[in-house]
Amino acid sequence: MYLIFLNIVFLLLPAYVALTSPAFANNAVDWAKVARPDQTGATSQSIGNYNSGCISGAVALAQEGPGYQLMRLSRNRAYGHPELKQFIEKLGQIVAHQHESVLLVGDLSQPRGGPTLSGHRSHQTGLDVDIWFLLSKQAASRSLTRAERENWSAPSVLLGNSDNINPKEWSAAHEKILQSAAQLPEVDRIFVNPSIKRELCSKRDGDSAWLRKIRPWWKHDDHFHVRLKCPANNRHCQSQEPLPLGESCDASLAWWFSAEAKSPLGKKPETYKPPVLPDLCTTVLKAP
Ligand SMILES: [Zn+2]
Repeated sequence: MYLIFLNIVFLLLPAYVALTSPAFANNAVDWAKVARPDQTGATSQSIGNYNSGCISGAVALAQEGPGYQLMRLSRNRAYGHPELKQFIEKLGQIVAHQHESVLLVGDLSQPRGGPTLSGHRSHQTGLDVDIWFLLSKQAASRSLTRAERENWSAPSVLLGNSDNINPKEWSAAHEKILQSAAQLPEVDRIFVNPSIKRELCSKRDGDSAWLRKIRPWWKHDDHFHVRLKCPANNRHCQSQEPLPLGESCDASLAWWFSAEAKSPLGKKPETYKPPVLPDLCTTVLKAP
């Protein structure tokens, strides 16, 4: 009798867990499997926050346009809010006109955003994009092949394991491109390696309010990461805490070069907690 009871419990348990588990929409495997954005017919909505959220009605960035080429096509992470797509196109045009160069664009978000199986904690709401620091003359002169887009990688702009910028990989164009991006009003912040922020701070002149948006962060020595603000009328989109006032070329930047920051504890941003996505994201994930 007891065995029968146990059998019933084990038969019903998975159904019970499936019905009650809030983890459904938090599983990165499920988000990675979805090949297309949901078809809402309504406006695009970024939902939740950058590290635990999703996007409804995402659009795909074309594989290339004036001043940019999309890399790593196989990852299917070329989706974002229309404002992110427009931002990349706009920055591409600036780069093409002012620098006769081309941006190599890495990950945006998955078709419906959400957590990824590899590479990022953020990029979940269609408002984040990674752009390589590699300004390739070759890429500026022709369309890269699919294989090149998979196999190329961007070198670090730092010298060896040091905190110094490698002048062979860094140029005035890099600085201007970061400035142009930061000055666009839709940009909330841009993450770069602390050494890059220090380099920009060392050269600041009268017009340096834009440096406020340039944020030092671990790694980010081969690409910069642009994060847009929550778009207007996206009422389920959660903003990040506001940036500190000023250019942040002060002690807060110096900390990154301190013994504390270099210690194993300092190098670890924070303990990883699996994201808890808003319930609305379950609807987005399950939608046709
Ligand atoms: Zn990123």
